[in-house]
Amino acid sequence: LAIRCLSVLVCLSLVSGVGLAGIAAAPAPSPSSSLLPDAVRERAAALRDDALAGTRALEIARSLSFEVGPRSAGSPGDRAAVEWGLRTLRGLGFENVHAEKVTVPHWDRGTIAGEILSPWPQPVILASLGGSVGTPEAPAGNGIEAEVVGVPSLAALDQLDPARVQGRIVFYDVKMQRTKDVAGYRDAVPVRGAGASRAAKRGAVAVLIRSIGTGHDRFPHTGAMRYEDGVAKIPAAALAPADADLLAAALASGKPVRFRLRSTARMLPDAESANVIGEIRGRERPDEIVLLGAHLDSWDLGTGGIDDGAGVAIMTEAARRIGAAGNGKLPRPRRPRRTIRVVLFANEEFGTSGARAYAAAHAAELAEHVLAAESDLGAGRVYRLSSGVAPDHLPQIAELAKLLAPLGVSPGDNEAHGGSDVAPLGAAGVPLLDLDQDATSYFDWHHTANDTVDKIDPKEIDQNVAAWAALAYAVADLPGDLGRAPAGKGRE
Ligand SMILES: [Zn+2]
Repeated sequence: LAIRCLSVLVCLSLVSGVGLAGIAAAPAPSPSSSLLPDAVRERAAALRDDALAGTRALEIARSLSFEVGPRSAGSPGDRAAVEWGLRTLRGLGFENVHAEKVTVPHWDRGTIAGEILSPWPQPVILASLGGSVGTPEAPAGNGIEAEVVGVPSLAALDQLDPARVQGRIVFYDVKMQRTKDVAGYRDAVPVRGAGASRAAKRGAVAVLIRSIGTGHDRFPHTGAMRYEDGVAKIPAAALAPADADLLAAALASGKPVRFRLRSTARMLPDAESANVIGEIRGRERPDEIVLLGAHLDSWDLGTGGIDDGAGVAIMTEAARRIGAAGNGKLPRPRRPRRTIRVVLFANEEFGTSGARAYAAAHAAELAEHVLAAESDLGAGRVYRLSSGVAPDHLPQIAELAKLLAPLGVSPGDNEAHGGSDVAPLGAAGVPLLDLDQDATSYFDWHHTANDTVDKIDPKEIDQNVAAWAALAYAVADLPGDLGRAPAGKGRE
């Protein structure tokens, strides 16, 4: 790794072990000017304030959501999204716009139908979980018909007598809590990924889960699940919240509950997709990269307006504004020292193929990545800046946080792990910054047919752009960098 330093003084003290007191002859710069020079601070503040006056982010999100729409990995929409990304970045004036090939799994949801047969016959609304197998074709396409056993958690299933699970459909009735951060989702979501194999080990024939979300309606919530090797693959589906209530009430009646499930979900051969990349090239150190990421794919039920059309729009527009003249206070474009690279990742939703392909293809270049950041939580307001940097660089982070204070952003901790697309970069030592967003409403719509672009508040998405434009510009134009992230950063 190249040793890059905040200032000559720090560099000397790192390399030689000579403390600041030992080089009294050197004039000591004022700490704030060396951490964030006035020229950088002023331009970053102007980028911030200009964005609050209105940006093109919502227009970009609408374009992706309307012109491409659903774009799950390997689908025709995925290919259309790659074309959209290339066309859009070129049209917005990005440089070095190109696609980098990524192989992605291709899952087809087919059709699904479910009904409670007894004690109260009723069809329900449900969605296959991503990666699920379908129900058997035979006999006569009737699918799976079995008695339902309900459990409130994964742990509760493990405590059930296997005789009560054998040959049955397991219903995991886990209610997600609404939280401002992602804690509610993080706590509830393991049942979606692991529930099928845990139940199959005990002889279950299918699993149903309560949708992992905070909406209360008839929009079921999809998302990735995975099968453990060597365990029977059984179908897995999420019930819309109102239908989960119905099934819970049927179980609470104490009468046997029978359910029929039919699904034609299946895996298809792997397909080709791509990470789409565009840059604002740096004026002094173009090989040093400030990476702004978001994911181009979406689940198929909605149009990916918030997940992650919002993030694509926020990062694209933030970078565009750094490279372009602004609305008034920024009459002339001024390239930052380093390159701003926007990466629109392929297939975040079903196994982060794009993230892994990027980290592998750019492995030799990661020492020159001075920052990796991602926007993937819709367009809710940013309220906190968290970092994942070496502790000796925290004074710089404090200066960056001050820049965002007028946006209502407060300083967070140094425990940032990046989004799932940049986490492998953090694990490789690339410093990470997270702008934590208010997710109070996000999980009402996330991964459902209700994920559409009308859920974006224009003022809120502009506040996101303001924060990222100021932050990314400042890091790209700092005289020094943010060091290397300590080992263990990044959620790989
Ligand atoms: Zn996402």
